[in-house]
Amino acid sequence: MRWLWIALACCLGASLAWPLSCYLVQSRKAPAVTEFPCPACSGTRRASQYLCRADWFSLPVAAQRALKRRDRQARARLQELYEQITAGVPLDQIHITP
Ligand SMILES: [Zn+2]
Repeated sequence: MRWLWIALACCLGASLAWPLSCYLVQSRKAPAVTEFPCPACSGTRRASQYLCRADWFSLPVAAQRALKRRDRQARARLQELYEQITAGVPLDQIHITP
């Protein structure tokens, strides 16, 4: 009867070892990319942010408020922000219209 317990323990061990080894292999992979280059400077921004923190707070409050709004024009406003940055408009003079 003892062999039965040993066989059972081996099966159990094998069934636990596989998911555990998969988990360990996955957790050793490179972490997900959560930071991207800031379009206005050489710094980095988070995936959920349009600009790095310093540049975001350099924008006029009205522009920040406009860019925070989530509606159908949100993408157009973001596009306008990036176009003005590319055109060299100083951050404190950026004006978001839509
Ligand atoms: Zn920046």
